[in-house]
Amino acid sequence: MKVRPHEDISGVYVVELDDGSMRLATRNLAPGVKVYGEMLIKHEDAELRLWDAYRSKLAAAFMKGLKVSPLAEGTRVLYLGVASGTTCSHISDIVGHGGRVYGVEFSPRVMREFLERVAKYRKNVIPILADARLPAEYANLVEEVDVIYQDVAQPYQSKILVDNADFYLKEGGWAFLAVKARSIDVTKEPSEVYKREIKTLKDGGFEVVHVVHLEPYDVDHAMILARRT
Ligand code: SAM
Repeated sequence: MKVRPHEDISGVYVVELDDGSMRLATRNLAPGVKVYGEMLIKHEDAELRLWDAYRSKLAAAFMKGLKVSPLAEGTRVLYLGVASGTTCSHISDIVGHGGRVYGVEFSPRVMREFLERVAKYRKNVIPILADARLPAEYANLVEEVDVIYQDVAQPYQSKILVDNADFYLKEGGWAFLAVKARSIDVTKEPSEVYKREIKTLKDGGFEVVHVVHLEPYDVDHAMILARRT
């Protein structure tokens, strides 16, 4: 097995397994603790967690060639649709002890899993049980952030993102938007849905920097990386 830091993505490692396949990994902020059954490996003085691109759209986007990432040590992130925390845990690894991840989830059952698997072990993760469509409701819990990561699989996803950006995103801040085309409008082709989401982002003051389609890791999804101008 060979391990090297990713050339372009801060805080991410590239692992070449003995069978020749490549995986991504992050440095485990909670050594010894697994979040979703991922493999832990020793690398120099650190423990790395393999990052499964079939389980995380952000890993899929990096595997599909996204070479730009605003995430680094110290970054503050508002995560909308954090679920049980698979992707959030890797973002928590990347932003480290100096960063913050505010994780918003509206399902109490899923939030419990998030607390048990992720928030309990990581001081840089702040769990918030709330509806991302109502950003004012968590204003007393969230500070200004550098990045919004959104994966809510809801209609009007980009509107939810723009509304949250108005409240919490710093000037020049970044956003990742995972677009699940079929959940927005089953009658439209994915490309049309992506175009509509991108238009809403542009109207909301974002410049779209990259759109990465996530097949084969995630069928019919894309990751949009945008920056507020
Ligand atoms: N991002 C997660 C990951 O990669 O580990 C997976 C997210 S899953 C596709 C979508 C999540 O968004 C679900 O857990 C769902 O309950 C949550 N969700 C949907 N609508 C929401 C809303 N309006 N506010 C907060 N959470 C929401």
